[in-house]
Amino acid sequence: MKIAIFGAGQLAMMMIQADKDKKHDFIVIDPNPNPPASHYAEHIQTEYDDATTLNKIANDCEVATIDFENVCVDAMRKLEKTIPVHPSSHALEICQDRLKEKSLFKKLDIKTTEYYPINNSNDLEKHIDNNKSYILKSRRFGYDGKNQYRIIPNKKIETDLTKKECILEEFVDFDAEVSLICVRSLTGNIFYYPLVENSHTNGILSMSICPSSYSNLQADAEEISRRLLESMNYVGVLVVEFFVSKGSTLIANEMAPRVHNSGHWTIEGANISQFLAHINSISGELNNDLSIDYMPSVMFNILSEHISNKKMNMLKNDYDVFLHDYHKVERKDRKLGHITHISKNRDELIQNMDAILDIL
Ligand code: ADP
Ligand code: MG
Repeated sequence: MKIAIFGAGQLAMMMIQADKDKKHDFIVIDPNPNPPASHYAEHIQTEYDDATTLNKIANDCEVATIDFENVCVDAMRKLEKTIPVHPSSHALEICQDRLKEKSLFKKLDIKTTEYYPINNSNDLEKHIDNNKSYILKSRRFGYDGKNQYRIIPNKKIETDLTKKECILEEFVDFDAEVSLICVRSLTGNIFYYPLVENSHTNGILSMSICPSSYSNLQADAEEISRRLLESMNYVGVLVVEFFVSKGSTLIANEMAPRVHNSGHWTIEGANISQFLAHINSISGELNNDLSIDYMPSVMFNILSEHISNKKMNMLKNDYDVFLHDYHKVERKDRKLGHITHISKNRDELIQNMDAILDIL
């Protein structure tokens, strides 16, 4: 099958790498020069809504997908008239906008943090209680904690974020952050990975562990995610991020309509990676009898600076580690690659994780 991917970052790169038997041909579309996936597939360097490119994709490809949720919804809607786009323009439209996303949570009776739409600084004053903490987030184009502002009780608010459409969220004093990676087939079968526990530094994911210490919440997370997937008639991988509050309550934070950084461990840690699961689902090849199996795994993001050969050799000497390099130049807070470690059991994993962190 010929598959178009809008966005040619590391997520597209790992989708292409997952097609080990080269069953498919890929074209990647990305306005940036030399993005990670361009080393593995034909790259068209244009804006995502370029009409000539959309025509070419409609003519040459059998299905389209994304590695970046902020592609132009109208362009995807146009493309959908000719070939299937997964996730659909409808799903993208919701997931691109925090207000639409939160409204869907509410409509489906899914617990989420209290929130208020904010269109100007007056709205902000109206909703803020000076004794509470909040996070102000732009409705669109936020990622890795960007376009967010933390509001601390009785502290002067200094932000120009309110020039954009925002939502104000009450700050959740959570115990942990977990995510559920789900994949839904063309025929509506849904498969779930075990909950992953995520750590962030300055709003950027630094580490993911699977299994999490919240297996008691797996069934709840699956039930919530099923409602979301079915309501959007979603096809492919969807990831739902939750806060765990008071040990046993899941509060939905946001969704990613794509493969996700918290699922990178599945390349070595699961019998089917999130990347292959996504490609198989959008191409109609996801096995209905699939049962997801995994090894205890931890993933560390490599941010800002590449890891030295010396450190990598030290890690390889003692542990089962796998390095993925995204072919990017160093820049502060940029995701340059990741390392996965897999282990026989969770206790050993946690022990090794601490030792690996010391080396990193
Ligand atoms: P994105 O990942 O798109 O940047 P998120 O909404 O996931 O946006 O926010 C990034 C991180 O900021 C979260 O993983 C969490 O650590 C923190 N955060 C976001 N919203 C809240 C909230 N309402 N309460 C507490 N922490 C939050
Ligand atoms: Mg997030």
